Amino acid sequence: MAPYAATVFGHPSGSHRQARGARKALEDAREQVASLLGARPGEIVFTSGGTEADNLAVLGVLSRAARLDPVPPGTPHVPGTPAAHGAPEGRATVVVTSPLEHAGVLEPCRLAAARIRGVEHRTCRAGASGVIDMDDFEELVAETARTAVVALVSVMLANNESGAVQPLSAVVEATRSLAPGAVVHTDAVQASPWLDLAKAAKGADLVSISAHKLGGPKGAGALVVREGCLLDPMVVGGGQERERRAGTHNVAGAVGLAAALGAASAAREEESVRVGALRDRLADGLLSTVEAVREVADRKHVLPGHCQLAFEGVDREELVLLLDDAGICVSGGAACASGALEPSHVLSAMGVPRTAARGAIRFSLGHTTGAADVDRALEVVPRAVERLRA
Ligand code: PLP
Repeated sequence: MAPYAATVFGHPSGSHRQARGARKALEDAREQVASLLGARPGEIVFTSGGTEADNLAVLGVLSRAARLDPVPPGTPHVPGTPAAHGAPEGRATVVVTSPLEHAGVLEPCRLAAARIRGVEHRTCRAGASGVIDMDDFEELVAETARTAVVALVSVMLANNESGAVQPLSAVVEATRSLAPGAVVHTDAVQASPWLDLAKAAKGADLVSISAHKLGGPKGAGALVVREGCLLDPMVVGGGQERERRAGTHNVAGAVGLAAALGAASAAREEESVRVGALRDRLADGLLSTVEAVREVADRKHVLPGHCQLAFEGVDREELVLLLDDAGICVSGGAACASGALEPSHVLSAMGVPRTAARGAIRFSLGHTTGAADVDRALEVVPRAVERLRA
């Protein structure tokens, strides 16, 4: 990244030598990202990260679907092609999501429902395992398609809190058969270090990724927009990224994203086994030494680097601070704006009782985690929990 933040400082849209150097770096990064994601270079739209990629997917598709002319009566749906028509008069334009989505997806869905005439947001149910309820999803899509136009389905590939991998291929298959005009988006931000997206996200029309989840720079990401998938740009101006996202490119960010994705892909198989074993030792160790603790999601669905545990009788923010004092960095989820601790929407959707959700923290393991880190956590965490309970 360093040369593109310093010496090769040209604007990639320019024509002189410096500009050409920057443009070559950008296009090389695009090719590398595309090949690692199983896409074509023209299908990669660089963004400022996962949130922007999610916003572009949701708002871009809904804005386009809602503004287009109504479908003339009798127009057949072409299976597998994304929505190209607006809803007929009197029918809602619907986005269906899981209740487990990141705020980067849920908030634009709420915004679209509030601001774009005719748009509605519906969510299916999730189970206690952390995975969406496919029967409920299918029923919801089928029922919606009878009375409205399903313009977009957005289901994440893996959840950022529980780490639970979602049945994306089944979601794609069900959507293609029940609502063939719908665009399918997946937020693959959390899954990208652990799953080969060229395979795991193959059926989706839109795929969001973010560099910092891969060890790359913060503030860089991409949305895969498969050829033929129509969306309105959300950032307009100079027409960059084939009119899908305007603004001068973050060349160093794109280079960093490509390098991080390349490094993560090369190490994926080995790292998944190594980190998965460390996670199992951490989870099993804590489950066997600490009383009244439960694993939030069913581990057979969970990514190798995730370990979310709920400690009864403990306030998660207090536990986060106590562990931080001991040099162990864990996440307790977000406190709401008023400062009052609300259970996360993900845990609520999974039906985790409030008393357990109150004490839920997430350990994240990755390429920098080693056996000594797990040993230290196994020593420190039980003492911290005991102290807070006392
Ligand atoms: N989606 C998921 C599942 C995430 O975990 C995150 C980041 O935490 C995002 C989207 C947002 O990505 P970014 O931080 O690059 O905006």
